Formats: sequence, structure tokens, C-alpha cells
Amino acid sequence: MSYLEIANASVGFGSYDNRTEVLTDVTLSVEENEFVAIVGFSGAGKSTLISLLAGLIHPDKGEIRIGGEVIQEPSPRLGIMFQNYSLLPWLSVYENVALAVKQVFPQFSKRELRAHVEKYLAMVSLTPALNKKPAELSGGMRQRASLARTLAMQPEVLLLDEPLSALDALTRAVIQDEIIRIWEDDKRTIVMITNDVDEAVLMADRIVPLTLGPRATLGSAFPVQLPRPRNRTNLNTNREFRRLRNDISKYMVNLNEEAKARSESQVVVDLPTMMPVDFSALPLQPAKGRRRVSLTKALNPKTSFFK
Ligand code: ADP
Repeated sequence: MSYLEIANASVGFGSYDNRTEVLTDVTLSVEENEFVAIVGFSGAGKSTLISLLAGLIHPDKGEIRIGGEVIQEPSPRLGIMFQNYSLLPWLSVYENVALAVKQVFPQFSKRELRAHVEKYLAMVSLTPALNKKPAELSGGMRQRASLARTLAMQPEVLLLDEPLSALDALTRAVIQDEIIRIWEDDKRTIVMITNDVDEAVLMADRIVPLTLGPRATLGSAFPVQLPRPRNRTNLNTNREFRRLRNDISKYMVNLNEEAKARSESQVVVDLPTMMPVDFSALPLQPAKGRRRVSLTKALNPKTSFFK
């Protein structure tokens, strides 16, 4: 039995003729302290998969287990970080983190709470911004505050839903390094959703592609055996990194092409019954004494003189 398991889970939304089957028969086993990245195209069902893991939605079939226990609802054992920061704008960075910590550790004294929050804000290099409101922070700082909040709740599993996709390339690289450093120091299990193959190869132990929806499911995993720590500058010339990036990208492109071919072969268009009209017979240049003919009238079967 693995630590975190998705067992034959299927999820759909809507009912009857308005129903979309988003995920079908998804199975995934994640070991304790493993870093798994799930890559997929937009709309494939990645966020649905993370919501499922977080207990925010229930599978129609199958189940999700952590340490053998079925996940029925959100639990402090699973911490989720979204791409849109989701910080409360009227609270300072400190207060945002403290609010979350109080939910999980209500027994903390004021002093313990302060020490705990400050420790996690220092971990993501946000000590100088402790009293700032989210609006006063850059996108990267907001995402670091969001990361500190998730980490400070000390979940066993971190669920990262495209946490870096809204950031510019340089900030993204800094936070990727921060997540890897924290994961290495403070071993946790991570499931990260991303649409960036390079990011997945740089960070994860294993990459699992999500096929295109509807009825998306997980494809065969690509293990990443590159030694750690991984240096992004050296990786670009690393043969194994390039092989993996190529194999995964090719796999994803093929998925996309298969899905396109599938949808094209399924296009059924009901055409109306049409009668050919002989335009050459239309008197476009009225001869002397001939009536001018309205084209609309001529083409209307009721008024047309072309039979
Ligand atoms: P991704 O994260 O890969 O972009 P999502 O998981 O957000 O994809 O969505 C996958 C599909 O499920 C989309 O077609 C989306 O419209 C649909 N979907 C997601 N959530 C809901 C919902 N609550 N109700 C109806 N459809 C939904």
C-alpha cells in the first residue's frame, strides 16, 4: 500500500444531457516524501484532480486514501496552494499566515504563534514584508506568502496547483528553487500540477501526464533519475534532462494530435436542404422597359420567378 493513493477515481460535472465526464478511472500511488508532478494541457482536468486529492470534491467512483484512510473532506493533513495566491486582502502577510496556523494549532500561545509564523515567513525570505498587505507585494512575494501559509500549517502532503504559472520567468525560477530547498530540508510529499515540462523535470522525482479530456486519465509515468541537487544551468546541457524533456513533450504533442483527430472525426454538421440557384438567369442589367428585380425577392422561394 502506498502513502497517498487515488484508486480508480472518476469525476464528472452536470447531469443528463449537460454532463461532462472530466476524469475517468484515475489511479495514482505516491510514496511518502516523493515529489510527483502531473503535467497536462489546459482544460484537461488538472485542477479537478487536485481538488479531488484535497477532498474539496468527491469522486463519483473510486476513492482517495492517505495512509490507508479514505479522504472524505478537506483535512489539515493535505495543504493546497493555488495559482492565484488566495490571500485575504485586508490582512497583513503575518495575519494571513497566522489565521491559517490558528485553525490547525488552536492550542498555540501568542508567543508560540508568533515564533511559528515568523519561522515560515523567514523560510520564504519574507521577513521584511511581514506587516505589508497583499496589495503592497509583487506577484512573486504574494506567492511566497501563500507558500509560507501552506507550509506553516505543516501538512503531510503539499498539493500545488500550478503555483508558479502566473509569475515571470525569473521569479518563477527563484520560487522553484525555494520549493525544492524546503522540500529537501523538511521532507514532505508533494503533488504538483504544472503545464511546464521543464519545471516538472527540474523539480520532480516522477512525472505523470494527464491525457486530454473529456474522460481524461493518467498516462504512464516518466521517472526522473537526475541526481539532486539539480542545477538549472547545468541541466540544459545534461543529456538525460534533454532526453526526458523530449520524450515527455513528444508524448504530450501526440496526445494533442490524437485528441484533435478524435474530435474532427466526431464533427457532424446537419446541413439544410438546398436548391441550386442559377444566378446567370438573373436580369442584373435591366434592359430598357424591363422591371428592376430585387435579389431578395428573386431568391425567396415564395416570390421568386425562377422555378
Ligand atoms: P485544468 O485545470 O486542466 O485546466 P479543470 O480541472 O479546471 O482543467 O477543468 C476540466 C474540465 O472540467 C473543464 O472542461 C471544465 O470546464 C470542467 N469543470 C471543472 N470544474 C467544473 C464544475 N464545477 N462544473 C462544471 N464543469 C467543470
